[in-house]
Amino acid sequence: MTWRSHSAFNVLAFYAITKDPASFLVAAPLAWLPDGLERIFRSTHRGWSHSLLCWVLAFFGSLFLAQDVLAFLCLNGVLHVVADAFSQSGIPIFAPNGPRLALRCYSTGTLAEFLFLMLFGFIAYIISR
Ligand SMILES: [Zn+2]
Repeated sequence: MTWRSHSAFNVLAFYAITKDPASFLVAAPLAWLPDGLERIFRSTHRGWSHSLLCWVLAFFGSLFLAQDVLAFLCLNGVLHVVADAFSQSGIPIFAPNGPRLALRCYSTGTLAEFLFLMLFGFIAYIISR
């Protein structure tokens, strides 16, 4: 998924979850967090920085520690890797070398990605009502 689509995906998700303009406007630039970590540490594309288990554990850990800002960052990471799970190449579930979750709904940068995003926007709209 392109960074624009990731931003739109996270904004739509936060709109559906919170309806708070501040949260979904801040979510837009944070949507690239897993890809940003990948670039900073020069690791493989959709490797350890896209581990679903790591992001989910970090999210619940930050909730347990009552760290709201960290939980917000981690939820952006969870949403990013969930969106990537619908791509052709998918994401690692546990670690970089473990099994992958690839739901194969779209290829990055294609019309299918756009249609996937529109469907998600429609679902977010229905949830937010
Ligand atoms: Zn990614």
